Amino acid sequence: MFVELVNPGNTSQKCSRCGTIGERKGKTFHCTNLECGLVLDSDLNAARNIHVAPLSAGATRSRGGCPLPSIQLTAAA
Ligand SMILES: [Zn+2]
Repeated sequence: MFVELVNPGNTSQKCSRCGTIGERKGKTFHCTNLECGLVLDSDLNAARNIHVAPLSAGATRSRGGCPLPSIQLTAAA
């Protein structure tokens, strides 16, 4: 199982597919993970991240509360 650290402040920089912190160029997000290589509108990418992040509870949770345990791993940051 792939688990990636979640930093609530990096939703616009984190790849919504693989979780890698990528580069934001203008309005486009570029995943720096060569195996992923996702290129996506940065707002859409951020929205996808927020959708699965617990910090947005109540706002965008419409899929039955899919559990995301990785948020607790950010304590070391
Ligand atoms: Zn990626």
